[in-house]
Amino acid sequence: MASFSIAQELASHEKDFQTPLDSLEFAQAMDRIDPLKKFRSKFCFPKLKSLPVKHQSRGVVDGEAECIYFCGNSLGLKPKMADQLMAEQLQNWADMGVFMHFEGPLGAAFCDQPGKPMTAQLVGAKFDHEVALMNGLTVNLHLLMMAFFQPTETRHRILIEDHAFPSDRYAMSSLIRSKGLDPQDSLIQIRPREGEHTLRTEDILQLIEEQGQSIAMIVFSGLQYYTGQKFAMKAITKAGQDQGCVVGWDLAHAIGNVELKLHDWNVDFACWCTYKYLNSGAGGIAGAFLHNRYAQSPPEHLLGWWSNKQETRFQMAAECDMAMGADSFRLCNPPPWLACLNYASLQIFEEAGMDRILAKQRLLTGYLEHLIQQHFSQGPVTVTIITPSNPDQRGSQLSLVFSTDVKAAHEELEQRGIVCDFRSPSAIRIAPAPLYNSFEDVHKFITIIKEVIGRNV
Ligand SMILES: *Cc1c(COP(=O)(O)O)cnc(C)c1O
Repeated sequence: MASFSIAQELASHEKDFQTPLDSLEFAQAMDRIDPLKKFRSKFCFPKLKSLPVKHQSRGVVDGEAECIYFCGNSLGLKPKMADQLMAEQLQNWADMGVFMHFEGPLGAAFCDQPGKPMTAQLVGAKFDHEVALMNGLTVNLHLLMMAFFQPTETRHRILIEDHAFPSDRYAMSSLIRSKGLDPQDSLIQIRPREGEHTLRTEDILQLIEEQGQSIAMIVFSGLQYYTGQKFAMKAITKAGQDQGCVVGWDLAHAIGNVELKLHDWNVDFACWCTYKYLNSGAGGIAGAFLHNRYAQSPPEHLLGWWSNKQETRFQMAAECDMAMGADSFRLCNPPPWLACLNYASLQIFEEAGMDRILAKQRLLTGYLEHLIQQHFSQGPVTVTIITPSNPDQRGSQLSLVFSTDVKAAHEELEQRGIVCDFRSPSAIRIAPAPLYNSFEDVHKFITIIKEVIGRNV
């Protein structure tokens, strides 16, 4: 069952519109009252003809048509503003040469700064100096973990969720090995119960209580990339810290997708990329959070010239005069190309507001859930939604596991203009992004997938 309150909300709209929930008219009516509807036009939707897929099969041949894009969990769509901001930066380089570092619409040396207040808001930082924009995600994860992971004889383990993103597991195993330890002993991966897909908070808390004294650091993803489960970040952070563990979060799938309150939750550190829900482009500038209580005295960490305070950086002194907070983890001069793409997207988030994004997400993902349940709970092919049905334990994404191999069906979905993620042999992840996806997108997806699955059983 879709969560009770969402089901009720959808049913009350159904009554208002006097058209059944599963009709196209219902979806279109929902789009008409969507307070975020104007934001769709701020993004570039790939056209069928430009995707690397053959579209001549079965009916759909209109190459000019826009695809139905449900892959914002993997790579968000390009904001149209990105061209203008990027062109400005390139022009600034052309016009100024070396002077571009400090002059022009956004001096390259400060290009990461304008994005900080909005980023701080998105992660629930209380101070701008709790966040920094720098590097890529895995680099930031390494820099922060390396600083915080101080194994001792008795406390040497790192706890991570099972089936974590490979980069995070590789980062942890290699960090553990670099300390002369063995990941077999020092990396704990907590698994769901037999027959279950997601972790129960009570099981995570119990493991921390039982084994916390041997755990140096807990680093989970805030929102699990495969199952779409959002973890109880506040409770896990507290449970870990009560046992003396450092607690950090990888927010790759969480930022721009769920509410975050890193400062209030007392999180030690966090990091994220910006190309998923934050629509900042592949390989975009990533972020880091360092709690304010470390602002003046962070753990010993690697330094570069950009770790130095802005005001004294160019004195080129022998010793680093360290910047306050997360910025002390910066090593290099920041990339204006990446920072301006991130800024183009952050402005959209600022205008839309996370509250409105989350309100729409509940309904949009709830609507998708409702239609899946309606059409795929019985029949030759059924679907299990492994993402939690409680909207407080998920974001936009639903992970669907089909009762059959859906490789051929996924290929046909692509031919019909649906872009979504497929994990062999039977899982499809669908992430309707509240900023640019519509109820009509969801309705079209269900109509098409029903036809395609029907034909491919
Ligand atoms: C997307 C993602 C990554 C990707 O790492 P990059 O350094 O940006 O290439 C890493 N970890 C998690 C949990 C992710 O979701």
